[in-house]
Amino acid sequence: MQRREFIKTVGAGSVALGAGLAAVGRSEAKSKAEHKWKMVTTWPKNFPGLGTGANHLAALIGEMTGGRIEVKVFGAGELVPAFEVFDAVSRGTAEMGHGAAYYWKGKSEAAQFFSTVPFGLTAQEMNGWLYHGGGMELWTELYAGFGLVPAAAGNTGVQMGGWFNKEINSVEDLKGLKMRIPGLGGEVLQRAGGTPVNLPGGELFTALQNRTIDATEWVGPYNDLAFGLYKAAKYYYYPGFHEPGTTLEAMINKKALEALPGDLRSIVLNACKVVNQDMLAEYTARNPPALQALVRKHDVDLRIYPNDVIARLRELSAQVVAEIAQRDELSGRVYASYQKFLEQSREWSRISEFTYLSARDPG
Ligand code: CA
Repeated sequence: MQRREFIKTVGAGSVALGAGLAAVGRSEAKSKAEHKWKMVTTWPKNFPGLGTGANHLAALIGEMTGGRIEVKVFGAGELVPAFEVFDAVSRGTAEMGHGAAYYWKGKSEAAQFFSTVPFGLTAQEMNGWLYHGGGMELWTELYAGFGLVPAAAGNTGVQMGGWFNKEINSVEDLKGLKMRIPGLGGEVLQRAGGTPVNLPGGELFTALQNRTIDATEWVGPYNDLAFGLYKAAKYYYYPGFHEPGTTLEAMINKKALEALPGDLRSIVLNACKVVNQDMLAEYTARNPPALQALVRKHDVDLRIYPNDVIARLRELSAQVVAEIAQRDELSGRVYASYQKFLEQSREWSRISEFTYLSARDPG
């Protein structure tokens, strides 16, 4: 609610600020912005965290440019369907898009490294790789081939393993498990003997309730509580080995970005950086009370994956991820850069975050 009010206020401010600018000769009285952009998204309009993050980005660009750029946000299916966002921005139907890079593995397998990979980097490490470890340069190179400029623009942090109506006590229990788990996580489940299925978010609840699927992953407590998944499944497993710190993306049509003067170009890219941090802060703030509500109010049975299950999934994940390196030359370089950063991060993250958290919260 607060955010919606904020957006309205910013929108109104943009019109006021732009009032004196070059309105002469324009036919539409309301057209005060120098650049009117469309942002298509892969999320339902105003979806908590993800959709509202896209709204936040659009509002920030308007605010920071004093209304010189106006960005209108479209939810999935409003202008183009969710999975056509990449192509729509690539051909210039919209100047911007907001989504997650693993949706575009059909364009390039390497795209998946810029969202998340199983047993990969955490949110904090991911930002380290992207901004200071060579990740952004590779992502930029990859998307340039499609006439796009990418930017990190949100992160969910580590996700949850998912909702199950079957207990997972051993590797054997993964055999025949029908689970909604997209992307590389799904490939890992398949190699463990399970049956991954992909369903859009809006269909998860019914599929789980009808027992069409045995299990589903979605995001984490904040989003899962909102979907009411606890009403359709008994066990809530963790950790989300398959999505350890999912980066959301903004993609910008390269020609549209290059047509902007330098100050506006910088604002657009830096607004993405603000939203990238802010969304992670939002998930960090909203997941804990949502988890408490699930466990204390809705009696959710919280379970950790058994050690031998995690060990098997880790082994299979390493194979699946390494195979991407073989696809093409650029995928090979992306894999090598990511893997090098991951290897370097292990020791420091163990000594810093892991050891500190174990010290703060023993047992
Ligand atoms: Ca997920």
